Amino acid sequence: MSKLAWYSHEICFWHDPGPGSGYLPVGPGIEPLRQHAVDPDLRRAEGLVRLAGVLDHYTRVTPAPATDDDLLLVHVPEHLARVEAASALGAGDAGVYAYVNHHSAEAARVAAGACVQATTAVLDGRFDRAYCLVRPPGHHAEPDRAMALCLYNNVAIAARAAQRHGVRRVLVLDWDVHHGNGIQRTFYADPDVLYVSIHQEGLFPPASGLVTETGTGAGAGRTLNVPLPAGSGHEAYLAALSRLVAPAARTFRPELILVAAGVDASGHDPMGRMMCTSRTFHAMTVGMCALADELTDGRIVFVHEGGYSAWYQPTLVLAIAAAIAGLPAPPDPFLHSLEHLPGQRLRPQQSRVVEHLEAHHPMLARGGRSR
Ligand SMILES: [Zn+2]
Repeated sequence: MSKLAWYSHEICFWHDPGPGSGYLPVGPGIEPLRQHAVDPDLRRAEGLVRLAGVLDHYTRVTPAPATDDDLLLVHVPEHLARVEAASALGAGDAGVYAYVNHHSAEAARVAAGACVQATTAVLDGRFDRAYCLVRPPGHHAEPDRAMALCLYNNVAIAARAAQRHGVRRVLVLDWDVHHGNGIQRTFYADPDVLYVSIHQEGLFPPASGLVTETGTGAGAGRTLNVPLPAGSGHEAYLAALSRLVAPAARTFRPELILVAAGVDASGHDPMGRMMCTSRTFHAMTVGMCALADELTDGRIVFVHEGGYSAWYQPTLVLAIAAAIAGLPAPPDPFLHSLEHLPGQRLRPQQSRVVEHLEAHHPMLARGGRSR
């Protein structure tokens, strides 16, 4: 029986990029409505997990804010100062499309702190698996700049904190629909962190997350990008997991697995064009927990990232939470709207990406198969 921890904090629900529409703030042609990343939506997700009885399987932990030492594992001091100053003004952009309110700097510190503390607790054996329901998200944040809603790079900081705590090899899987350029940049030359990203080809950032980006120097081969074409769904994601992530992980032999578990690759998300359902996220979570049981003594930490469908995000978080707890896929009232669509099947153009990486990526290509 796994010991499970659930890290969340009220302040993370108080971060809000402010009035706007879609992902843009109020400006020419933009009437005030609400931006997608409104974090009270995350409180609704936690509410559904509680109502379904799934939260009863977890020990609830209220995280403390990350210290400067934690944040400086990845970021430069000037970056911390910029985030704090923008938030102190109560509004504005802390970087590139990284809008903040009065609570954002504290929320971002707590989000990063949750990930550091969850990772440390799992490494110490206090828990086997942890889930961090945090905002703002992190995977676009680079060492020296906030980007696309992300202020501090929660997962990258957690990976560095794990190394500070004594483990060497960390596998980071990022299944957010966007490419995690900030995580990639942090570890691009690091041989001890294998960064795998499954994302929508060419979505965001532009020209980021190509199959040809595989690491540099000592980190050569330690970045594995899986840019699936728009319209990819259940079978394409599970093929990427079983045919790319799992074999690469077995070659790499991590001591800890971190998952940047955004839910914006769903078929109802306004920020991506993918087709995943709650069943996809449940199955991927089950697969990653099994991989952790096989390779890392069960040690795995899931961290929330993107997710912009106000109505579907709670169901997706519930599916991940249930899978971590070893429970079957929960009821999904929206499943009927997605599961019959042709995008759920593995299509040739999706298969080709998987086959290309199987044949050519340094962590996968072997013997006569590499050309
Ligand atoms: Zn995203």
